[in-house]
Amino acid sequence: MADQTHPPADTLQIGDTLHRRGLMFILSSPSGVGKTTVARRLLAHDPAIRMSVSVTTRLMRPGEIEGVDYHFVDQPTFDEMIEHGHFMEWAHVFGYSYGTPKAHVKAGLKDGQDYLFDIDWQGTQQLYQRAESDVVRVFLLPPSLEELHRRLSARATDSSEVIAARMAQAQSEISHWDGYDYVVVNDDIDACFHKVCEILHAERMRRARQTGLIAFVRELMRGSHSA
Ligand code: 5GP
Repeated sequence: MADQTHPPADTLQIGDTLHRRGLMFILSSPSGVGKTTVARRLLAHDPAIRMSVSVTTRLMRPGEIEGVDYHFVDQPTFDEMIEHGHFMEWAHVFGYSYGTPKAHVKAGLKDGQDYLFDIDWQGTQQLYQRAESDVVRVFLLPPSLEELHRRLSARATDSSEVIAARMAQAQSEISHWDGYDYVVVNDDIDACFHKVCEILHAERMRRARQTGLIAFVRELMRGSHSA
């Protein structure tokens, strides 16, 4: 059977040599929808995308690693970072502060590096206002609120009060679904992951991102004159 996941070698070569501007790939959803799973898979499968690690004032959960899941800081440190303009965006979520550090992202985009952002709708709006053409906004929805409650309870890292608060928060978060470019319902994690990959691949091919196209087409046309 033909391998449909890999384009012919000559296409690959052209794609690899053409310079492309990186993109800011935002994944948002209420907690418990599977965003972290999708994000981890994407990072494991696609070496061209790197996580933008946020700064937060919330406590570290079991299994989380400093510098990998978040940079964990206290509130005075976070406030100082705001004051010094270290964030691309920041917001209060569930009573804690979360922010995206500016470092590296700007220069990386120019070099063709893609970044994955796991941020809420407030941060998404701020990034979109700052860098509209670099931003791709993807929102994940649960198949139902009952299923979301089941998934949050199964996680067992949060107390019942926290789960209740997250369920209430989920409904307000879902109300911002129309501020996104793509909305995917996660009723099957494999199918959801596959759709997210397709979105990423298609967005990479946008003409405006393929900054090497101008020189390539110029060369192409020159070839056609001399043929
Ligand atoms: P959690 O505490 O469960 O890891 O994340 C809670 C919420 O904060 C999630 O909706 C997540 O997307 C959001 N979040 C994480 N990092 C950032 C950030 O840097 N900026 C913003 N605006 N939201 C964030």
